Amino acid sequence: MTESPDPVERARAVLAAARRPIALTGAGVSAESGVPTFRGPGGLWRRHRPEDLATPEAFARDPRLVWEWYAWRREIVRGCRPNAAHRALARWARGRAVTLVTQNVDGLHAEAAREAGSPPPIELHGSLFRTRCTGCDARRAARAPLDLSAALPACAECGALLRPDVVWFGEPLDDGLLARAFRAAASADACLVVGTSAIVHPAASVAVASLRAGAALVEVNPEPTPLSAHAAVALRRPAADVVPGILA
Ligand code: NAD
Ligand code: ZN
Repeated sequence: MTESPDPVERARAVLAAARRPIALTGAGVSAESGVPTFRGPGGLWRRHRPEDLATPEAFARDPRLVWEWYAWRREIVRGCRPNAAHRALARWARGRAVTLVTQNVDGLHAEAAREAGSPPPIELHGSLFRTRCTGCDARRAARAPLDLSAALPACAECGALLRPDVVWFGEPLDDGLLARAFRAAASADACLVVGTSAIVHPAASVAVASLRAGAALVEVNPEPTPLSAHAAVALRRPAADVVPGILA
């Protein structure tokens, strides 16, 4: 069989042949849903930098300031819907041994999975739409708008202060989630990487681990990344344009 000169066709062939594929996504997969990046337009908030707000120290110092920032981000993201790339990935994962790993906290893969009836993604960095108790560690879905006008959110179980269930700068990732992601990477025969600069570790290491295991890498990103040199196919196009076609 001769290899197609069309990179989209080649990507489709790699992914169609895969028996245990893994997908790793980052902020770029949500760009066409209108989710702002930290640093893009609208990425600044009251002249605070995310690095100064998304930390355990910031929360200890001023939990109200941090909660107000998260309430603002939740309201922006609440208006965003999964795009064609999220939906195609969710359909692809339905009834197949696909492991979807994301660095995003916007919940859009989870929403697309609910709509498609496919397994939820591994959200390595947590979710804007969950809370975690600073006392008893209980995690809860929290989709309703937050009322911060009086007290900050407190745990219904133990009364302690709740925090957003996201991984802050300087915090470790959840061991169980990481282990699941690396287990899937270690047996992957293909890895689809969409919309990540692949510089935030350990998330990017998931793709590297799949390469070590012999997986063929397909990258979707308008810009080159450190993974591009290892890609079997690199598609320099926006995710919502190209992902549905390569997973069709
Ligand atoms: P990043 O901002 O470092 O990289 C985004 C990548 O997406 C870039 O390589 C860019 O070229 C690419 N891109 C831009 N538009 C695209 C499109 N339409 N289609 C495909 N690719 C596109 O993001 P990252 O690698 O996810 O790392 C940033 C960190 O910030 C993560 O830890 C993440 O948790 C956090 N974050 C999350 C969100 C979110 O939940 N949506 C948004 C901003 C930041
Ligand atoms: Zn509690």
